[in-house]
Amino acid sequence: MLADKDHIFTNLHGVESWNLGAARRRGVWDNTAGIIQKGQAWIIGEVKNSGLRGRGGAGFPTGMKWSFMPKDLSVPHYLLINADESEPGTCKDRDILRYDPHRLLEGVLIAAFAVGAHTAYIYIRGEFYNEALRVQQAIDEAYAYGLLGKNAANSGWDCDVYLDRGAGAYSCGEETALMESLEGKKGQPRNKPPFPAGAGLYACPTTINNVETIALVPEILRRGAGWFAGFGRPKNSGTKLFCISGHVNKPCNVEEAMSLPMKELIEKYAGGVRGGWDNLLAVIPGGSSTPVLPKEICDMALMDFDALREAGSSLGTAGVIVMDKSTDIIYAIARLSKFYKHESCGQCTPCREGVAWLARMMMRMVEGRATTGEIDTMLDVTKQIEGRTICAFGDGAVWPVQGLIRHFRPQMVERIERYRKQAKFA
Ligand code: SF4
Repeated sequence: MLADKDHIFTNLHGVESWNLGAARRRGVWDNTAGIIQKGQAWIIGEVKNSGLRGRGGAGFPTGMKWSFMPKDLSVPHYLLINADESEPGTCKDRDILRYDPHRLLEGVLIAAFAVGAHTAYIYIRGEFYNEALRVQQAIDEAYAYGLLGKNAANSGWDCDVYLDRGAGAYSCGEETALMESLEGKKGQPRNKPPFPAGAGLYACPTTINNVETIALVPEILRRGAGWFAGFGRPKNSGTKLFCISGHVNKPCNVEEAMSLPMKELIEKYAGGVRGGWDNLLAVIPGGSSTPVLPKEICDMALMDFDALREAGSSLGTAGVIVMDKSTDIIYAIARLSKFYKHESCGQCTPCREGVAWLARMMMRMVEGRATTGEIDTMLDVTKQIEGRTICAFGDGAVWPVQGLIRHFRPQMVERIERYRKQAKFA
């Protein structure tokens, strides 16, 4: 269990005030100038050594991403903060924005310096209305106290931070769609390459990071890369915010060390599965786009990037959705397919048509109004979408269906046979 002294997000539940005075008492904005004065190379080196991997879902090493930014500062460099948290089952960034916005802003200043950006944008999902007001209040406060703007926090680095509200499209969480939206266009992903570090916002070098990732950075630099790397397994280091929802006794957000067992996470912090662990049917471990895992895998699963990949799923956003045996798992996944059908930006045919097709087939599977052969047809459709689209949305939209077929095919077959019998005697 993570010791109290090792928690970074010490106001995750909003027990204390979010404002600057309270944030300073929690250690935020402590010697920020001293950190910046150690230089860009030192900061990037420490972030690399800490093993920090992006907390937005993809898990790309943060220090490495920063090192891709060109050193020539003759063209503007930008830092973008992805606060478009829209993955069902995920609400971790929301609580940072609500209760600890200064921790994010301090990270923004340090990261902006590290990547050579004098301008940073925080792109927040449209539905986070109150959170947007809160973040803007924190930005205003930081400017008033000289922590942002010219010679930010007496660091010698100028850094302006702007808040931009999205209009509520899931696909704007994809980094290039976010840039399009920020530029005032339709939020549709761009083809890559070019990658953002080469040509991102306004075709200038751009780094984009998730809220949690950036909010972790100041404390990593204050306490040392070795301290952060000491949590979790190699290549899966650090602390992590987990959002536990669904059929648990006490849904919650919690910060824990990476690589702890899923069972321990659910039992210790969320009060256990409704009706006890043996009443567990399945868990979606990393937000709705990650494949569902049945109980027998959950019994042994560790909560980190590599362990969950080996288990056939993903850590994703660490939005842990727990389903007990009362769940109609076919309907639950069909509902996710409907969500992804609705959120497809429509640019590429496999995603636009294929995901819609899957959603319709899944609704028939819920009734059992299908043939068993159609299960394989559906699996084939997912393979025609996966890896064949402009952005990773296509993959994320089909993984829930793939997980369902991999682990719950007998239940699908049983539903189809039951429907056929009932139709025969109707
Ligand atoms: Fe749009 Fe889907 Fe293609 Fe991504 S995969 S660009 S969301 S149509």
